[in-house]
Amino acid sequence: MVKADRVCKSFGALKVLRGVTLEIERGQVLCLVGPSGSGKSTFLRCINHLEQVSAGRLYVDGELVGYSERGGRLYELHPRQAARQRRDIGMVFQHFNLFPHRTALENIIEAPTQVKKVRKQDALVRARDLLDQVGLAEKADAYPAQLSGGQQQRVAIARALAMDPKLMLFDEPTSALDPELVGEVLGVMKNLAKEGMTMVVVTHEMGFAREVADQLAFMDGGVVVEAGEPRELLAHPKHERTQLFLSKLL
Ligand code: ATP
Ligand code: MG
Repeated sequence: MVKADRVCKSFGALKVLRGVTLEIERGQVLCLVGPSGSGKSTFLRCINHLEQVSAGRLYVDGELVGYSERGGRLYELHPRQAARQRRDIGMVFQHFNLFPHRTALENIIEAPTQVKKVRKQDALVRARDLLDQVGLAEKADAYPAQLSGGQQQRVAIARALAMDPKLMLFDEPTSALDPELVGEVLGVMKNLAKEGMTMVVVTHEMGFAREVADQLAFMDGGVVVEAGEPRELLAHPKHERTQLFLSKLL
């Protein structure tokens, strides 16, 4: 579903990604860990085409992200085609970024009705289903300010799911939450994984990684230093940098 082949990304002279190589199968969950500044968010943003890859190849569902390739040469996609690619990818951020003047339900129907031109009645039915799925059926008419951080984040997940994405990206979805609210968000993500959603999750919740992820990747200095089965990687990290990082975390 996602294939990164020596993906590089620079901002001016700053080389942030220096050849990220990874593969995530359909229905799999990849957890991405690594020190601050190692390029985790940048990598997610490249997958979602919020950043343009500088070198290497990045594919989502077999399609090159942001480019078309003809005769070995790359051509930038038309913005409309790039937007179509992005539509199939849901993203959840550390800060929930809900529209403050819209209720939970209105937040969820926004993209389907505006971008996908789904009929409002149909979008509302689906939105109520999604709220139920994230355990917030009774909060449909609440405004974000009336919800706890964990509830807002669950609405944000429902909002991303409303576009029927084939891939979900999570960038530290629980790190802004009070500890007692972390579990409810991870629980929703775990259910999503069980239902077969393909997910890339930047998180330092190692319990979640151990239990839910099919693959754990450790990034440092803009490369994947080490990746593997989570329990195996956590128990026997091969690289010194991975060992050091994990020892500080656990
Ligand atoms: P954290 O754990 O703190 O979230 P991260 O691994 O997600 O870190 P990134 O946010 O990907 O790291 O940032 C990697 C590097 O890229 C940092 O040095 C950052 O300052 C730089 N960077 C990110 N975005 C930009 C940008 N738009 N312009 C310039 N530099 C950027
Ligand atoms: Mg980040």
